[in-house]
Amino acid sequence: MSLFGRFVVATLPLTPRFLVGRVAARYVAGETMEEALATVRDLNGSGAAATLDVLGEEVTDRDKATRAVEEYLRLFAAIEEQRLDANVSLKLTLLGLKIDEGFCCDNVERIAAAAAERGNFVRLDMEDATTTDATLAIYQRLQPRYGNLGVVFQAYMRRTLCDIDRLPAEGANVRLCKGIYIEPRTIAWKGYQTVRHNFVAALEKLITRGVYAAIATHDEYLVCAATALIDRHRLPRERYEFQMLLGVDHELRRILLAAGHRLRVYVPYGADWYAYSVRRLRENPEIARHVVNAFFGRRGSGGAR
Ligand SMILES: Cc1cc2nc3c(=O)[nH]c(=O)nc-3n(C[C@H](O)[C@H](O)[C@H](O)COP(=O)(O)OP(=O)(O)OC[C@H]3O[C@@H](n4cnc5c(N)ncnc54)[C@H](O)[C@@H]3O)c2cc1C
Repeated sequence: MSLFGRFVVATLPLTPRFLVGRVAARYVAGETMEEALATVRDLNGSGAAATLDVLGEEVTDRDKATRAVEEYLRLFAAIEEQRLDANVSLKLTLLGLKIDEGFCCDNVERIAAAAAERGNFVRLDMEDATTTDATLAIYQRLQPRYGNLGVVFQAYMRRTLCDIDRLPAEGANVRLCKGIYIEPRTIAWKGYQTVRHNFVAALEKLITRGVYAAIATHDEYLVCAATALIDRHRLPRERYEFQMLLGVDHELRRILLAAGHRLRVYVPYGADWYAYSVRRLRENPEIARHVVNAFFGRRGSGGAR
């Protein structure tokens, strides 16, 4: 990242909210379910599936967690009614993990049960390391009952290869990503190339264990390594998919679809767009350009969703 880029990232907390909003518009489908469903319709039209995420995290208020559950229940009904190719992703700290693990588990169970009734699927996003054990515990408690849950492993975590070994492979569906939170070196690999190396090792382990792999990356090096593994293991199309974030690298999205791979786009929406957007902006090495473009009234490239 350029010196100016680093400066912009460091001063993000001071950046006016409207400016963050201008740049964030490419990463977030909108504030309402209707806007998110319209985005999914567009994606489906281009051949991509979607996973819908209701924005929000670190909730300390039970009513807010309950409202999020109800939003997910309405989502399943809308997906079915509108015959969309979409499932959902959710953050356990939105559903009350930091309030009480039992309360959170009950909330996830309501969502998993509603999804199961409609033949849909629920991905438990992985948040920072303080939530890893609880997220895996809730997954292991509910998956045998509903069979429609998936988890996420982060390639930057030193524990990930062991976690994959411990995961019951039967019916498992794992999203593999690099990981977005800032973790200490004692528990996380730090080097850029090291994380890539662990990503490839983890992906190979998922494939050889027969686990459905959702390969979540925009890193061309990893896309290349993944396609080589898919080829070497003669993996049928039904055993994996690529995943990308809304607003990132539309060209790569089109290339993967044209090559015949399945691809799913992560579509976040909701009033709580700010924390999500700041995280996306922090990780984008070209952030300086986007912020400057927004400031001078032009949308950053790839502004269309
Ligand atoms: C579908 C999906 C789900 C995810 N779920 C989780 C999760 O549950 N838990 C978690 O910790 N992390 C999650 N992540 C985030 C992930 O861990 C990475 O932080 C993020 O994907 C960037 O890593 P990368 O593999 O794309 O590689 P990078 O090296 O970060 O990026 C490769 C290239 O992609 C482009 N790029 C990447 N990010 C951006 C951006 N924000 N804006 C513009 N261009 C960009 C740039 O050109 C960059 O050079 C998810 C990512 C995806 C795609």
